Amino acid sequence: MKKKRIAVLGSTGSIGRATLAVIEHLPQRLKLVAIAARTAAEAVCQQALRYRPKQVILTDPGAAATVRRKLPPEISVFAGIDAINRIACSPDIDLVVMAMTGTAGLTAVLLALRNGKTVALATKEIIVAYGDIVIKTARRFGAQILPIDSELAALHQCLNGKTPTALKQLILTASGGPFWHQGPPADADIKTVLRHPTWKMGKKITVDSATLMNKGFEVIETVRLFGVHPNQVKTVIHPQSIVHSLVEFQDGSIIAQLSRPDMCLPIQYCLTYPDRLPSLVKPLKLDKASPLEFISPDQRRFPCLTLAYRALKSGPAATCVLNAANEIAVSAFLQGKIAFGFIPVIIKKTLNTHMKQKTPKTISLSGLRRIETWATGYARSLI
Ligand code: MG
Repeated sequence: MKKKRIAVLGSTGSIGRATLAVIEHLPQRLKLVAIAARTAAEAVCQQALRYRPKQVILTDPGAAATVRRKLPPEISVFAGIDAINRIACSPDIDLVVMAMTGTAGLTAVLLALRNGKTVALATKEIIVAYGDIVIKTARRFGAQILPIDSELAALHQCLNGKTPTALKQLILTASGGPFWHQGPPADADIKTVLRHPTWKMGKKITVDSATLMNKGFEVIETVRLFGVHPNQVKTVIHPQSIVHSLVEFQDGSIIAQLSRPDMCLPIQYCLTYPDRLPSLVKPLKLDKASPLEFISPDQRRFPCLTLAYRALKSGPAATCVLNAANEIAVSAFLQGKIAFGFIPVIIKKTLNTHMKQKTPKTISLSGLRRIETWATGYARSLI
């Protein structure tokens, strides 16, 4: 069987590291060709020496020079975002794992899709900010997008990739983060916010989980990737993170996907789809997993979730604004510049100001980029 040749873009973050472990676990099926990171020279060197990709890319030229000195000559080292874009559409690659933070990887994703490659997408910000364009590109070039996200991968498994007409609703589970029972306290400190009860993830997504913006982003992703109406996507708090999402059909039947909370499973699902192979994930013992609880989220307590639905119903420009304002607000909180409770305030103000202007329902890539730049600047001015 031909091995799938893979580029992991964003290899030093938590998804990137788990992806490399999954590839190493399935050498008969998967081959790592390239890894890319921003500046983490030391971590990249260790990964390159262990996993032996042919190519290593760092967006920072200084970090690239450091890595080049440390690696043997058979591993090529390149610098800059152009090198990332080149590998994304290279004939040496079948599948691109996009796990870079923010929307920096958008061009790489579009180039990969235009060249018919499968994109395993962990960066949901790209679908929130630029989803319409990304999905149209995938359709036009017959390329596949598979979501590296436990909930979206769960829906993909329940639906087996198709959206049937007999669908009633898609139900996304949320662990709810550390505050699901009382709502997020306005003055919560960084340490408390970063203490996620079930998942170990990067800082940005952990903050997004505590505000439920992460769930809002997943609602937007679900609507765009599965082509359903926003009213067909519901969320439910499930503190145990065992049921990763559910699909309800018109006859009242519900299909769910269960496993231990471990990202290696959705990653492997995307890398080996449509096949299933033994994985690194420990089996789920149902008797130990009980009880499984499901609680309706009180949306009034989680303004970020409401803002996400509002932006989604307004259109692609508003979701681009939502993502940009959230990016700025979360980074300001992580730098200690604003209180936790100010995150939704910044997003709401930016979104309101944007929605007072008239923007068309369909919008070009350059139009969206302009809107993203405006929203970033406007949100910054509020800090
Ligand atoms: Mg998720």
